[in-house]
Amino acid sequence: VSPQAPKRIKALDQDVVNKIAAGEIIVAPVHALKELIENAVDAGSTLLEIVVKDGGLKLLQITDNGHGINKDDLPILCERFTTSKLKAFEDLSSIGTYGFRGEALASISHIAHLAITTKTADSSCAWRAHYADGKLAPAKPGQSADPKPTAGRGGTQITVEDLFYNVLSRQKAFRSPSEEYAKILDLVGRYAVHCKGVAFSCKKHGDSAMGISTPSNASTVDCIRQIHGSAVANELINFEVSDDKWGFKASGWTTNANYHVKKTTILLFINHRSVESSAIKKAIEQTYSAFLPKGSHPFIYLSLDIDPARVDVNVHPTKREVNFLNEDEIIESICAEINARLSQVDTSRTFTTQS
Ligand code: ADP
Ligand code: MG
Repeated sequence: VSPQAPKRIKALDQDVVNKIAAGEIIVAPVHALKELIENAVDAGSTLLEIVVKDGGLKLLQITDNGHGINKDDLPILCERFTTSKLKAFEDLSSIGTYGFRGEALASISHIAHLAITTKTADSSCAWRAHYADGKLAPAKPGQSADPKPTAGRGGTQITVEDLFYNVLSRQKAFRSPSEEYAKILDLVGRYAVHCKGVAFSCKKHGDSAMGISTPSNASTVDCIRQIHGSAVANELINFEVSDDKWGFKASGWTTNANYHVKKTTILLFINHRSVESSAIKKAIEQTYSAFLPKGSHPFIYLSLDIDPARVDVNVHPTKREVNFLNEDEIIESICAEINARLSQVDTSRTFTTQS
């Protein structure tokens, strides 16, 4: 009996490859929005307005007042690996950003209807372009795909409609738009706290009430108060710690022993990107266990700047966790500082009650 003949190997369609890649980077609307927020901040914006419909599945629109995009760059804007932020492979170690590979807009264009209106300072008008599968596309069938002049203020507006319209398996994965909207508000809130001097707003399409709204001149504590409430904001301690040996600088605000809740909230930024780190979370909870009743937890906003040469940025974009050298030592320094600050507050309080 001869074994069955093997099936011939064939290359996947480029279109299929692109959709697979896009689906890996953007698993939920909040991931698309994160890329768009980071782009807007990278462009030097001080005002970001976000509008969301159906948890971002129907519409994600973000308007910024940043430096805009040159009209001549519009044709390649949404191709994979086109970027203004990285030139040589060596730049990978010094760039200090995660959204560096020119993949975000390309990915979105493969799994959504994407439109961009943008105006640079030296252009007399704004330009509007539509994209599909990485390329300029007509707004309506039969029209030209060329960017069209239009009225607009300085900056960029990105409109993402019908996310996952061509990825049926993804569409089914979403239980409720309100769950997706909650994730979006959480993310926008994180960037609103972190990005000093940038005003953020986020609301549902058609609503007059804002889900989040912070002015550009708000302090970090003001932003935390606005988003997380006074119960948190009134109990914050400022901390700052750095060490040249490990190439890091950390600063932030963390709650004192008067405040505690069932779940830890960590707003963690590494080199100005919102990330997660289970190692940091665990170490902070450990630190607080000496100060808080059993089973109760703190709120902390932590901004960590690490020498980009020590951060492994060349990880796959699906990784929401980040790797960096001397992680243990850095986490230990941060926790030692928080521990010292909490102890100070503790003794000063004891002192006041005694006197
Ligand atoms: P990356 O951010 O990794 O470069 P993206 O696909 O996110 O890749 O964006 C591609 C390029 O488009 C960016 O390098 C930038 O030049 C430009 N760009 C994207 N969004 C904006 C924006 N809001 N304002 C100005 N330029 C933008
Ligand atoms: Mg980007």
